[in-house]
Amino acid sequence: MKITALAGGVGGAKLLIGLQSALPSEDLTAIVNTGDDSVIYGVHVSPDVDIVTYWLAGIADRARGWGIAGDTFDVVESIAALGGDSWFRLGDRDLATCLHRTERLRTGASLSVITDEIRTSLGVRTRVVPMSDEPVHTRIVSEDTVYEFQEWFVRERQQPRVTAVEFEGLDDAKPAPGVLDLISDADVVVLCPSNPVVSIGPILALPEVREKLREHPRVVAVSPIVQGAPVKGPADKLLAASGTEVTASGVAGLYADFCDIFVMDERDAAEAEKVEGMGMSALVVDTLMTDPAASERLAHSVIGVA
Ligand code: GDP
Repeated sequence: MKITALAGGVGGAKLLIGLQSALPSEDLTAIVNTGDDSVIYGVHVSPDVDIVTYWLAGIADRARGWGIAGDTFDVVESIAALGGDSWFRLGDRDLATCLHRTERLRTGASLSVITDEIRTSLGVRTRVVPMSDEPVHTRIVSEDTVYEFQEWFVRERQQPRVTAVEFEGLDDAKPAPGVLDLISDADVVVLCPSNPVVSIGPILALPEVREKLREHPRVVAVSPIVQGAPVKGPADKLLAASGTEVTASGVAGLYADFCDIFVMDERDAAEAEKVEGMGMSALVVDTLMTDPAASERLAHSVIGVA
């Protein structure tokens, strides 16, 4: 069964490790958000692509969610000692990935080629494809201030009230080479339980992606909202800002035009009828991926229902 999964960072990575261990080599591809990409410390940081790659490689710091387990922070601490801005915590080995990416981009390689080289070097058998080779920048608008996503998320600790979310660069961005075919040719497309606004949102906003999903007969989405709240992160603030109810069925409504099966948590079983009323099937299971075994169980449920 060939699966193409759309993912952001941690929520996506947790389901992807389960899918990777449940499927034979070559059968899983992850298309990953790049709206959070930014230039920080002079290097191209691609947070969601790296989180997914590190988790699939088995080297992620699982407790923290991001970065490499056991990494040191000598470079950012030295920058801080020099009086520089050091709010973006980038580990030394993580920085090496970003330096390498920046140098390869400078010599003309595309982000999708570089991402493939990095995952291969780290021994990851799942293909990891950035959503686009062109830059798309997620901006968080708070009243009359516009923040780059990482500024709002990390530096400002998600405190400024969100009044709008914008994706700069979308008009000139195309899906990365192969992305549309990876959706059409998959037996199943899975939307990971990633942030619907800033992780899945930019992927869906790329030209033709939504159309391809509408044409696909088997699209399965997993809810990142459990009991009216995100498991982690600011999805509640971002959903509310875009006028979406912070519930599993609220998320289902965002995907209703293309989703065939909506996987929602057993704690939200009461909402299943509402979800089915939107024209999709609901699968009610435990969606909390507290450890790799739980990720595998959820992956098997997704594969089973598909
Ligand atoms: P980020 O870019 O690192 O924030 O990662 P994502 O966008 O991929 O994931 C964030 C979303 O994942 C949040 O909305 C969380 O609610 C959701 N999430 C994290 N862990 C779990 C989990 O174990 N189960 C479910 N259902 N959702 C999760």
